[in-house]
Amino acid sequence: MNFDILTLFPGMFSGPFDESIINRAKDKQLIDISLYNIRDWATDRHQTADDAPYGGGAGMVMKAGPLAACIESVKALRPASSVVLTSPQGRRLTHAVALELVKKPGLILVCGRYEGIDERIRSIYADDDISLGDFVLSGGEIAAMAIVDAVTRLIPGALGSNESAEEDSFGDGLLEYPHYTRPPEFKGLTVPEPLLSGNHELIRKWRRKESLRKTRALRPDLLSLVTLTREDRKMLTEIEQEEADGTV
Ligand code: SAH
Repeated sequence: MNFDILTLFPGMFSGPFDESIINRAKDKQLIDISLYNIRDWATDRHQTADDAPYGGGAGMVMKAGPLAACIESVKALRPASSVVLTSPQGRRLTHAVALELVKKPGLILVCGRYEGIDERIRSIYADDDISLGDFVLSGGEIAAMAIVDAVTRLIPGALGSNESAEEDSFGDGLLEYPHYTRPPEFKGLTVPEPLLSGNHELIRKWRRKESLRKTRALRPDLLSLVTLTREDRKMLTEIEQEEADGTV
């Protein structure tokens, strides 16, 4: 999958893209990341990429001209890729959105800066607008990194085993169960008994129940969206009972 990232600060991406899963995915040629400095498409002597907003007010706006030229050059290389703007006004990046994006042949990610980009870029080129959440970042670079990371994890072969992505939080619609590693006791807290039992069925059941317990406690909204099995419903009744009895 091709990720083409259009930014005024390409230097921000060295580091995050050179380690761990993303780096391995690049090595395995599962993904290809190209960075473009929007300023290189500015035609004036000072390579101006921003200007004062019409109507006045604080801040600067990214000019349409250089960005349009940059998008068009990249689009010419990758006609099948979707143009995705990063924006606090976009649809929220969720697991479901990442699953949608991973099906695309490529993403052209546009990183805004300052007050944002000239609205005409959105009108002419944008296929999608993605937000990391209801807060304002200083630029789209961190959002682009998050999109690349979340999407890459979903490419078969990017993780050590395909199972990991499915078992992760949201993979099956629930939050993931809690994890423990050695030592068996830490500051007086022990590892739950079933995890030490070596009994796979016991471990599976414990994990499923704790996944339901966490989701119910932290994200009850997710529970209403998943299809629960008979076993799940039984476990949820037990959890309710345990809470009522004060045994957890
Ligand atoms: N004035 C704009 C915010 C501009 S922030 C507004 O109020 O809507 C500058 C840039 O940072 C944006 O163009 C976008 O690319 C990026 N950005 C800021 N917050 C973001 C978020 N929550 N998700 C994704 N990108 C964001």
